[in-house]
Amino acid sequence: MKFTLLGTGTSTGVPSIGCECETCTSDDPRDKRLRVSVLVEHGGQTVLIDTSSDFRQQALRVGLRHLDAVLVTHCHADHIFGLDDIRPLNFRHGALGVYANERAWVDIRRIFKYIFEPSHFGGGLPQVVAHTVTHGAAFCLGPDFQVTPIEVIHGRLPVMAYRLNDFAYATDLSEIPPASLDMLRGLDALVLDCLRLRPHPTHLWLERSLDYVRELRPRRAYFTHIAHDIKHARDAALLPGGVEWGYDGLEINDE
Ligand SMILES: [Zn+2]
Ligand SMILES: [Zn+2]
Ligand SMILES: [Zn+2]
Repeated sequence: MKFTLLGTGTSTGVPSIGCECETCTSDDPRDKRLRVSVLVEHGGQTVLIDTSSDFRQQALRVGLRHLDAVLVTHCHADHIFGLDDIRPLNFRHGALGVYANERAWVDIRRIFKYIFEPSHFGGGLPQVVAHTVTHGAAFCLGPDFQVTPIEVIHGRLPVMAYRLNDFAYATDLSEIPPASLDMLRGLDALVLDCLRLRPHPTHLWLERSLDYVRELRPRRAYFTHIAHDIKHARDAALLPGGVEWGYDGLEINDE
């Protein structure tokens, strides 16, 4: 299993437009964060979690040539607005399976109405094969590639975290319900929401993210969906051993 963090920034991206703070003006490439997304490679399969608003740039940056599936966490703009940019992959490889919960499908069909109810000829449309996921209903993307959708709470919105064998990706959440916690134990690697140091109504912040790491005890944890409040090198000292701030391009491999 290999995770490549394609984006680790909060919804505005970092730098934030017009901001002159220490992080937004930093030269450290780890302080330049595109919108959150992760590429998962395992057993010959390549899977993307979320088509972020920066998907095209992210795909070009890693030289993406093929996708076998897309998993959607939820339909906030920063996570879904890149869906139209799967078209070049469709041209070469045909329709792409997209997995999302029922709530997200309602939003995807509304936001991208032109895909599902085309009203004109011409203009390439994304080709999507819709799959609905539900909490706890695991499915396989390959002989040794199990995906378990796990419901977590983002403010008041239920969104999907995904466990992929012993790796898990859980972003955009403020709470993990008890039944979901049990599905996130025994992990080799966990990529977890951690917006900033101060509390936030719909995201985890440092203290809460670290509480969950202590509770779940993954072997390694990486924080994502990071705002400009966090400067990578300066704030590395805030984290205990086994926990790191994620950054764009970070690869997490089976060891
Ligand atoms: Zn987000
Ligand atoms: Zn800033
Ligand atoms: Zn969100």
